[in-house]
Amino acid sequence: MLNIGCHLSCTKGFLHMGKEALSIDADTFQFFTRNPRGGKAKPLDLEDIAKYLEFAKNHEIKQILAHAPYTLNPCAKEEGLRGFAFTTMQDDLRRLEHIPGAMYNFHPGSHVGQGEKEGIRLITEHLNRLFEEEFSTTVLLETMAGKGSEIGRCFEEIQEIIEGVEHREKLGVCMDTCHVFDAGYDIVNDLDGVLKEFDKIIGLKRLKAVHINDSMNTLGSHKDRHAKIGEGKIGLKAMVRMINHEKLRELPFYLETPNELEGYHKEILLLKSLYKAG
Ligand code: FE
Ligand code: FE
Ligand code: ZN
Repeated sequence: MLNIGCHLSCTKGFLHMGKEALSIDADTFQFFTRNPRGGKAKPLDLEDIAKYLEFAKNHEIKQILAHAPYTLNPCAKEEGLRGFAFTTMQDDLRRLEHIPGAMYNFHPGSHVGQGEKEGIRLITEHLNRLFEEEFSTTVLLETMAGKGSEIGRCFEEIQEIIEGVEHREKLGVCMDTCHVFDAGYDIVNDLDGVLKEFDKIIGLKRLKAVHINDSMNTLGSHKDRHAKIGEGKIGLKAMVRMINHEKLRELPFYLETPNELEGYHKEILLLKSLYKAG
């Protein structure tokens, strides 16, 4: 069965998200670990988490995905900003120890004029420091559109980061379909070729999740504006090929399309109806 969910608001806690996921026929979900702009996280509600874990077990909610605040920049120019990214991610990972099996996704960062090489060096350093503490959560690098000075706009950059990390067994990759398309990977006309390239450069064993989004912009636009499924330049046919592709079909898919719950529900039902039994 297709393993699919969407991004949910975390403000009402884990049990609430679990129930919301169930109400829209999702088997999983993604959430921000705190205010996406990167504020202070609320203290963990262990009772809510215990209730959620029981609920998830009873309703077969699969591996969920935590998303770091998108404003964090592990390769910022200012040391203070890098330090903030570090303490925030460290705190997130400590908290995630309470949610076994969850994965943690983050945007590698923007080099802000320091150059790709220095950006990659700083991200690598950040991850090596982070993994000095032992965490059980797998950390995912998200593929980026290459807007501004974003690192992670091509598979080579992602791989360079991974190679520089000592505990790379802790790392995986989350492929965002809007981002890779905007970065110039033609998943519409050559999905096989793109996945072959991913495999050659990074290795498909690292691919742990897919953000399934359509794109408002054209191939290689480096824009990063998500569209609803089938309403963007990627289109429904390509989406259907992706969810059914032999190399992708077992992965969890997360919608980050511009929707409220009702719209997510429709997209989940649509994609489930177009998933071919294995
Ligand atoms: Fe993201
Ligand atoms: Fe994404
Ligand atoms: Zn995006």
